[in-house]
Amino acid sequence: MLHLEKSAAAFAEAKHLMPGGVNSPVRSYANVDCNPPFIDHGLGDKIYDIDGNEYIDYVGSWGPLVVGHAHPQVVKALQEAAARGTSYGAPTLIESELAKKVMEVYPSIEMLRMVNSGTEATMSALRLARGYTHREKIVKFIGCYHGHSDSLLVNAGSGMATFGVPSSPGVTKGTAADTISVPYNDIDALQAVMDECGDEIAAVIVEPVAGNMGCVLPKQGYLRQMRALTEKHGTLLIFDEVMCGFRASLGGAQAAYGITPDLTCLGKIIGGGLPVAAYGGRREIMQQVSPTGPVYQAGTLSGNPLAMTAGLETLKLITAEPEDGKGDYVRELTLKTKKLLLGWQAKAQEAGVTIQAHQAGSMFGIFFNEHEVWNYDDSCASDQEAFKVWFKSMLEQGIYLAPSQFETLFMSGAHTDEDIDRTIEAAGKAFAAVAAARK
Ligand SMILES: *Cc1c(COP(=O)(O)O)cnc(C)c1O
Repeated sequence: MLHLEKSAAAFAEAKHLMPGGVNSPVRSYANVDCNPPFIDHGLGDKIYDIDGNEYIDYVGSWGPLVVGHAHPQVVKALQEAAARGTSYGAPTLIESELAKKVMEVYPSIEMLRMVNSGTEATMSALRLARGYTHREKIVKFIGCYHGHSDSLLVNAGSGMATFGVPSSPGVTKGTAADTISVPYNDIDALQAVMDECGDEIAAVIVEPVAGNMGCVLPKQGYLRQMRALTEKHGTLLIFDEVMCGFRASLGGAQAAYGITPDLTCLGKIIGGGLPVAAYGGRREIMQQVSPTGPVYQAGTLSGNPLAMTAGLETLKLITAEPEDGKGDYVRELTLKTKKLLLGWQAKAQEAGVTIQAHQAGSMFGIFFNEHEVWNYDDSCASDQEAFKVWFKSMLEQGIYLAPSQFETLFMSGAHTDEDIDRTIEAAGKAFAAVAAARK
């Protein structure tokens, strides 16, 4: 049995201080009916809670920690940067350095603006798209998450294209009405909306590899057709690669699938564990942003040298020339992820449990589902009870996974073959527990 007494006491106190005891909802473990471990520190691919338990971490702060926790090169650079002052609110060389590094890997980004969170990046990209096109409507896909700004907190439920219903109290009907939601991976649904009102739509925003309804891949040709439809109507295509950037491939989903979006949002890895995100794209569009253009957007701490340092060191590590006989960083992560998932699949089969295992580079996840998973409805039809049993068994065995089937898992460069083997062994027991619970 996992001992979590100190964590339980800390959680009880935190619940008086913050809604649900947390500063972001999924951390509360509400989906899995147990208390979250309180984390004391992390090193490499491991995290340690205040009760002294050790875990192999596949959450990686929800994506950013592609080089693992407290990587020595990142820590050293941060210590040096912190000693020089953490923010000046004035231009610095390192902002341009990070911008150039990002553009080397994302040629579709000719100009960018740094912000502090993925939420800010998508919100700002939409404002820019509306300002640039002089149109007000946007299209998003059901089950895609783009942060919590009002016009993107709209889901509208499943089925064919539905005109916006807010998915959270506090989002006004007026705001929601301009957001059209369509099912993911259904090109006909998008085509129908574009045929009806494409010329009023400023932007289509998409997670080109979806990561917030579990890990769901785009169907063959889907993104290409989306690109063609948006182009036809003068609608901007925004790739929200906050999660899949540097993961689906080094150059994100746009490189993996060979699509050039008009605007791209990056986050998570780009800040290497500090709060950084960015939006960027075609120069002519980006020049509409203040002060060169009329579309306003600003930030007191945007581009601060501490955050830029963590991002730059992380990108240096993952873009470094590979050692002899090895593939590049992201390729190695992809292979490790494949090994882990093959192991999990074999163990699931042994236990007589059917899973759908999905991978895009170093993003991965499984669904307890007999059927293929291509969209939010499919994902919702997965066995939630089985997931809870699996999750708790893995946690007990020191494997730290995201506490929801709707989340994606992440491989880091710090994960060793030995740890992956241990994770596969643990999965064997966890799938057996699922099979036993179903009997
Ligand atoms: C995490 C995420 C966001 C939001 O980023 P925050 O930094 O949490 O605001 C936006 N889009 C996608 C695809 C994400 O995964």
